[in-house]
Amino acid sequence: MPLLNLRLTKPKILVDLNGVSSLDSIRETSGGLSIGAMTRQSRVERSSLVRERCPILAEAIRYIGHVAIRHRGTIGGSLVHADPAAELPAVALALDANFEVARDGRDRVIPAAEFFIDYLTSALAPDEILREIVFPMVRPSSGYALEEVTRRHGDFAIAGVVAIVDLDEAAKIADVRVALFGVASTAVRARKLERALMGQEPNEHVFRDAAALLDDVLDPPGDIHASTAYRKHAAAVLTARALHRAVQVCHDRRL
Ligand SMILES: Cc1cc2nc3c(=O)[nH]c(=O)nc-3n(C[C@H](O)[C@H](O)[C@H](O)COP(=O)(O)OP(=O)(O)OC[C@H]3O[C@@H](n4cnc5c(N)ncnc54)[C@H](O)[C@@H]3O)c2cc1C
Repeated sequence: MPLLNLRLTKPKILVDLNGVSSLDSIRETSGGLSIGAMTRQSRVERSSLVRERCPILAEAIRYIGHVAIRHRGTIGGSLVHADPAAELPAVALALDANFEVARDGRDRVIPAAEFFIDYLTSALAPDEILREIVFPMVRPSSGYALEEVTRRHGDFAIAGVVAIVDLDEAAKIADVRVALFGVASTAVRARKLERALMGQEPNEHVFRDAAALLDDVLDPPGDIHASTAYRKHAAAVLTARALHRAVQVCHDRRL
């Protein structure tokens, strides 16, 4: 709606999906937590199933705009819009979500790693509809955190990061996923950093050294909100902070 309002897009045909009630759903499936594309962000945020099975998703939605925005905004709309500064694309990347897409009776599945192509551009063809997003469950012992910098609460992020960490019995890192937003033309997964952290003891030094490995994924624009240098610096600081908090949550969930 904002794009239409600002005349940034002028489609010849507008299809209103609001009446398609089958696109409004939250359910547990064999693949994970499946959420219909038209499910309102506020419903996902408040769902006890989401909070229990995929808490990082509920946590991330709290950072989207404010309550009125989340009452109207849909989970699918946010993902297809593919704003690089939005929270949900980074959550989808971190969780290796799958996008179930329908076109003229034929379905296909697009993995999150292939869904975000460029600034405001997803892999959906013009005649495809996003039906459902499937978030595979992470282990219940996993810790998670979202950290972001905004000018005011509810603004789109200047830079942000989602971190998910699981520890083994020796309290070393057994699984780690880090996805950043606001720092490139799409949300990005920091795979080099993830590889470097596997098997390590989680501490401040390890996190700070790992955050120095972000450079290959950071390509932030400089604009009226922040310079390129500021965004890069913020990304490294936020990553170390999010990893630290995710490990704390992991310890808490194991108690
Ligand atoms: C004031 C304001 C503040 C905001 N703050 C934030 C923020 O802090 N963080 C954040 O992440 N977001 C923020 N948003 C975005 C908001 O949460 C919505 O997700 C966004 O505006 C898209 O709206 P929508 O979900 O109704 O989708 P729509 O506007 O209906 O759709 C967005 C795009 O996706 C396409 N689309 C939608 N659903 C489907 C589908 N099922 N299949 C195929 N294509 C589809 C549409 O054609 C359109 O191109 C903000 C928005 C506003 C207006």
